[in-house]
Amino acid sequence: MKLTVLGCAGTFPGPDSPCSSYLLEQDGFRLLVDAGNGSTGMLQRSIGLLDLDAVVISHLHGDHYLDLVTYTYARRYYPGGQPGCLPVYGPTGVQQHIAGAFGRPVDDLLAEVYEFNEMSPGRLDIGPFELELGRVNHPVETFGMRITAGGRTLAYSADTGVSDELVKLARDVDLFLCEASYLDGDHNPPDIHLTGREAGEHARRAEVHKLLLTHLVPWGDPDRTLAEATGVYDGDIAVARTCAGYDV
Ligand SMILES: [Zn+2]
Repeated sequence: MKLTVLGCAGTFPGPDSPCSSYLLEQDGFRLLVDAGNGSTGMLQRSIGLLDLDAVVISHLHGDHYLDLVTYTYARRYYPGGQPGCLPVYGPTGVQQHIAGAFGRPVDDLLAEVYEFNEMSPGRLDIGPFELELGRVNHPVETFGMRITAGGRTLAYSADTGVSDELVKLARDVDLFLCEASYLDGDHNPPDIHLTGREAGEHARRAEVHKLLLTHLVPWGDPDRTLAEATGVYDGDIAVARTCAGYDV
């Protein structure tokens, strides 16, 4: 399984990165996990504009799904002809959220471009990927996920505060892609995001093989985030970089 980070900035785009978006590839199947604002640009640096097979949206905050709004035009009006409907899996209301951003009725347009599927906790098979979905600790319905393909396993935290469910999803995975939006010591509101230390603690509790920190807020300090996580987790660890590829 190959992971390419298309965007890893938390909450809003940074000068060097779009918001959250991760491309997973296995056996020629291309699954996009989240479509944060700006990520369609990076998608075109990695694969063709239309070369996606399915999309999973972890939750309906703008920095995780908004590029699906404008990507509608890319698929519908591509000069070479419109590709088939793209399966999109997301929380309850995913279609209505995307439609609402157009400011006019677009159900016919969206039906030509996307096939929407609302998710619930449990197993979901998409192409060669087996997903285990679980609700994590965030103010809107948010799915963390454990993704297995080709004998390798990745866990993705989505956005979450401290979460036992996330530890369960990440148990013993090869790569743990975990958000670390906050720094310790700030006045962090509870039940929204993790600090670098908390991400490290989740990795340690889940006994993951590698921790990749993501969703750092652009005004933060990646060195401090990494130091916080390293202080509590002594395994392989790095901060995600946009356009970097990782063999899971
Ligand atoms: Zn969020």
